[in-house]
Amino acid sequence: MLIGILGGGQLGRMLALAGYPLGMRFRFLDQASNAPAADVGELVVGQFTDRDALDRFAAGLDFVTYEFENVPVETVEYLEGKLRVAPPVAALRTGQDRSAEKAMFTRLGIPVPEYSIVREHADLTIAAEHVGLPCVMKTLRLGYDGKGQAVVKHSAGDTSPRHISARLDGAWITFDRVPVIVEKLVPFSREISIISCRGTDGDIVYYPLAQNVHRAGILRLSTSPAPDPHGALAAQAQAAAKKILEHLNYVGVLAIEFFLQTGPGGAKTLLANEIAPRVHNSGHWSIEGSICGQFENHLRAVTGLPLGSTESPGPVGGQCAMVNLIGGTPTADELLAIPGVSLHLYGKKPRLGRKIGHVTVRAPNVVQLQERLNIVTALVDAHAQG
Ligand code: AMP
Repeated sequence: MLIGILGGGQLGRMLALAGYPLGMRFRFLDQASNAPAADVGELVVGQFTDRDALDRFAAGLDFVTYEFENVPVETVEYLEGKLRVAPPVAALRTGQDRSAEKAMFTRLGIPVPEYSIVREHADLTIAAEHVGLPCVMKTLRLGYDGKGQAVVKHSAGDTSPRHISARLDGAWITFDRVPVIVEKLVPFSREISIISCRGTDGDIVYYPLAQNVHRAGILRLSTSPAPDPHGALAAQAQAAAKKILEHLNYVGVLAIEFFLQTGPGGAKTLLANEIAPRVHNSGHWSIEGSICGQFENHLRAVTGLPLGSTESPGPVGGQCAMVNLIGGTPTADELLAIPGVSLHLYGKKPRLGRKIGHVTVRAPNVVQLQERLNIVTALVDAHAQG
């Protein structure tokens, strides 16, 4: 069975590594001839908009999926005319536009931070009144890893609507006045994500929640399961995932990122931030931490196979964490000497702020996980750049 993957980054590479035991083979389309996935499958080098490259990529494929959320919608629509493609193009379209994404959350009754869309100058006044400061301004399209966004705060304590509009205008100029979303800066206590997967038969599996730490807009650490004493957060996250998966008639892995907000009475609400219609960095721990990891489950879904268990393969209470290697890495020798550690290197040249690999840390309980994590993060931070 030959699977085509749009994008040849580390996600494509890890998809292939998960698919080989199932007898699958892989072909990637990427504009870079040294894409990380080139080590593990056939690579067609070309732009997503190049019809010749798309035809060469598509010839003889059984299924197509994507590992990059900014694949042009037209590319997927073109391939859909020839082949079975999953996840559906509607998910890609929604995930690429923060206003469509927020509209979907709202329509499905999933709570979101207060927000306002700014497409023209007059919208700034509405955003100033409706959202105010502090806020986060983000481009509607093509943002990732904290790129294309800025936090806007009061200066000199002036809280007049005029001042707020002026602050927003000043920020919008730095965005070249492209369409943006203005969101309330949520004083979240934690960031949480859920990885879910829906099969062609409508079966859905959910991974345990991950708790995520970002620095400079880049994910640094995911811990799973996230603390959730009565399972209330998992119930909220799963309900949101189910609504979205069914609304989009989705097939494959879907990630949803949330902010955890604690209300005045202590009520905890997950506010949806964004979806990723693909395998996701906050689910990498599942390669070792689940009986069937997110990469294998995505491939099972796309190819119509039964979905696998998301439970921990280890002892009850098995704990897992994932630490990203950004811009540099300790040696394999140093990392693998720590008990419970697995190493994934993506074959990428180290560069400032670039994800070049990740480490999974496993332990039978939270205390031991934290002990191991302390050693790993100290080592990783000493080599990180960006
Ligand atoms: P995003 O590109 O939307 O995933 O944002 C990247 C990171 O910026 C998030 O993981 C948060 O840490 C932070 N962030 C984004 N939006 C907000 C918000 N409305 N309030 C607080 N922090 C935010």
